[in-house]
Amino acid sequence: MNIEQNLTRIKSNLPKNVTLVAVSKTKPVADLMEAYEAGQRIFGENKVQEMTEKWEQMPKDIEWHMIGHVQTNKVKYMIPYVKLIHGVDSLKLLKEINRLAKRWRKTVDCLLQIHIAEEETKFGLDEKELEEVLKQINIDGSEFENIRIVGLMGMATFTDNQEQIKREFLHLKSIFENLLNQPTTQNLQPTTLSMGMSGDYQLAIDCGSNMVRIGSSIFGTR
Ligand SMILES: *Cc1c(COP(=O)(O)O)cnc(C)c1O
Repeated sequence: MNIEQNLTRIKSNLPKNVTLVAVSKTKPVADLMEAYEAGQRIFGENKVQEMTEKWEQMPKDIEWHMIGHVQTNKVKYMIPYVKLIHGVDSLKLLKEINRLAKRWRKTVDCLLQIHIAEEETKFGLDEKELEEVLKQINIDGSEFENIRIVGLMGMATFTDNQEQIKREFLHLKSIFENLLNQPTTQNLQPTTLSMGMSGDYQLAIDCGSNMVRIGSSIFGTR
């Protein structure tokens, strides 16, 4: 695995408007540093503790993205430095992020995770739950002053069926379009649609993604 070559190859295939999150979960700091030396500045991790350990050891101009499911009791460890939290899927979590962000006198960017896959196991809100969350944020604006919803995130079903994956991505894209049509507020400023991983990012981009989360194609299998 040549991390630098992998990065160069992937980046040369990405349209300019698409942001690459290098998913480095389970990989050692040495591997992340190789990507860093090759110019990569955005890294995605799915465990708060692992991300925090890497943040402590690595240069401070890195943007750290939390892409995994977050337990409310772990939020406090990442608030000081996290740049974007992709997997927000409950009001309870949003409230906890807001509470700690306020304590740090900062605003934390979040993506709401939408359940688009067939599998029951994947986390995320359905469309109705999304509506409910947005409504609550609108009603209780003052309870959410320190978070900013900047878009949506989703994962397609783990399958070889390209048609199905495409259908799920287009579904998420349509939910995102709806969100873009809502009036923006201080805490709703959507710009980002995070969808696509190593196996399906090209399709995701064709379906409207502007942020891809790529791990194994950069760092090798886990
Ligand atoms: C692991 C992970 C990825 C990256 O997966 P690859 O197939 O290795 O590219 C992307 N998104 C999330 C949420 C992940 O947990």
